[in-house]
Amino acid sequence: MRRVMVIDARRCVGCEACVVACKTENHVPDGAYRDWVVQETRGEYPSLELTIQSQRCNHCSNAPCVANCPTGASHYRGDGTVQVDRDKCTGCRACIASCPYGARYVAPEGHVEKCTLCVHRLDRGKPTACEEVCPTSAIATGDRGDRGSVVALRLRRGTASVVTPEAGTEPNVSYVR
Ligand code: SF4
Ligand code: SF4
Repeated sequence: MRRVMVIDARRCVGCEACVVACKTENHVPDGAYRDWVVQETRGEYPSLELTIQSQRCNHCSNAPCVANCPTGASHYRGDGTVQVDRDKCTGCRACIASCPYGARYVAPEGHVEKCTLCVHRLDRGKPTACEEVCPTSAIATGDRGDRGSVVALRLRRGTASVVTPEAGTEPNVSYVR
């Protein structure tokens, strides 16, 4: 299984319900975020284009946070997601320094946290918290190897892109148009 997230950027209205749901579901401390919404305007008036993206850890296939973690706390799970074992984490912040996406933060207890792709929910057959509350169904998670899954369909039918591909981290969160 290769768990991925595919976001239909045409559907995102920037309501930030995903941000609120994640903070609630994962008890994210004040001042920290596991997901966030980026709005960008391109072009010149009156030909302007607005892009809105709900961003988070990209669960990269070539993750520098995993490569640079000296204790093995940052690791790949069997489903391809990148996770942090809080018991192995010393809080050295090497992963924070190496992540090009600013996806990680230090928890009040001293270990590092980030988006887990809500695997505690996916493992029970439930959608991620952000996916569940998205009013436009912009967010989808699933197994990209399952040809009948929503994520596989979106990747086949749309034009997919990732954030900062030049970083070479091979993100597994894609945006389709
Ligand atoms: Fe690691 Fe950052 Fe990639 Fe997430 S987005 S897997 S924290 S390098
Ligand atoms: Fe690994 Fe924790 Fe150090 Fe990050 S802060 S590199 S997860 S030990």
